[in-house]
Amino acid sequence: MKNDFVVVGSGLTGAVIARLLVDAGHDVLVLDRRPHLGGNVFDRRHESGIIVPDYGPHYFRTVSEKIWQFVNRFSRFHPYQHQVKSFVDGQLENWPIAASYIRRVCGEQWQPELKIERPANFEEAALSLMPRVIYEKFVKGYTEKQWGVAATQLSAGLCKRFDVRADDNPYLTPKAKFQGMPVDGYHAMMQRMLEGIPVLLGVDYLKDKQEFPARQLTIFTGPIDEYFQFELGRLHYRGQQRKNTYHVDSDQIQSTSQINFPGEQQQIRDIEWKHLMPPDQLDSLRGTVVTQEIPWSPNNPEQFEYPFPDEDNQKRYQDYRAMARQVPDVLICGRLGEYRYYDMDHAIGRAFKLAEKILSRTESPQDLLVD
Ligand SMILES: Cc1cc2nc3c(=O)[nH]c(=O)nc-3n(C[C@H](O)[C@H](O)[C@H](O)COP(=O)(O)OP(=O)(O)OC[C@H]3O[C@@H](n4cnc5c(N)ncnc54)[C@H](O)[C@@H]3O)c2cc1C
Repeated sequence: MKNDFVVVGSGLTGAVIARLLVDAGHDVLVLDRRPHLGGNVFDRRHESGIIVPDYGPHYFRTVSEKIWQFVNRFSRFHPYQHQVKSFVDGQLENWPIAASYIRRVCGEQWQPELKIERPANFEEAALSLMPRVIYEKFVKGYTEKQWGVAATQLSAGLCKRFDVRADDNPYLTPKAKFQGMPVDGYHAMMQRMLEGIPVLLGVDYLKDKQEFPARQLTIFTGPIDEYFQFELGRLHYRGQQRKNTYHVDSDQIQSTSQINFPGEQQQIRDIEWKHLMPPDQLDSLRGTVVTQEIPWSPNNPEQFEYPFPDEDNQKRYQDYRAMARQVPDVLICGRLGEYRYYDMDHAIGRAFKLAEKILSRTESPQDLLVD
């Protein structure tokens, strides 16, 4: 049987596009090769009663009222603003680094280590923002652990993901007007987003393409290099190995949900999920669950998390993108299809744009990606 649209992947990109196409009156089939829907925001309720994600922590924040209203269609959110601490010199310090900490360590008139307009790599970009001692305590070790290479081998652009504060505001994203966590988790939210839309789980589209023809367009949100059977070589990703520990008799292990470890420790961060739970559920929880995350380079596409930020991989991605332009009636998109890190709100905003273009489509599928 043919559907107007086949959406491969039930993560945020696929689910939002599917929802909007169905809302516009089309028939859509969603496929996912995992045994669950929701892609990387999937979570489940642990025996303690705590909601624990399979693929790492997800804090929802956005500056867009439209995106906030959209997600609130599928879940209630409880207010939550994320705070991160870094374990530095045996103590927990604010991340992003508090202005008062830099003044205490480097003096009132501190200057960044470098004054250069066009940093050539991540290390130079970071040293253009802060004194060397701060970089070495908070940033260098964390970054090299995260990516598994020297900070000088990473693109300068990666620095855009953090800021040096002029104040001591402890929240990670104070500028985002809308922030929170879905009260019964992301899996429940994604189930409601896909309500009424046929979803086939445990189906790898790439193994059975001809079984799922689309009348109009296939929207593929898996890895672009895998779509082309890694013909031009693999795009490199980093991921995290996660170890959950259930402390059945403890109420709380750490003072905040996330602690970063920029030092010699094997793990990069510890997350205690209870801090993310709605306050009115806390009394019913038994014990607490902490997850330790250890960065690694996965080979299995289902474990791909962060696209590797360097020029070689960008160049290879662009070559794959050129191949994708030759494929008729398939749109390859999403974080894996575009080899790009998108926060959830950006993934949703991107899906809005793509759905709008699909619905008023005059371009060929791959031209839909042009902003
Ligand atoms: C560790 C980590 C932490 C994050 N934390 C945050 C956060 O705190 N806040 C925030 O805003 N964002 C966060 N994000 C970003 C967020 O996870 C993404 O924005 C979101 O997952 C993007 O959704 P997607 O649909 O593009 O990709 P995915 O969620 O990966 O969905 C793709 C889906 O396609 C399926 N698929 C792939 N290939 C096939 C195939 N051949 N056949 C069938 N199905 C296939 C996969 O199984 C998967 O379910 C984080 C990301 C990571 C990696």
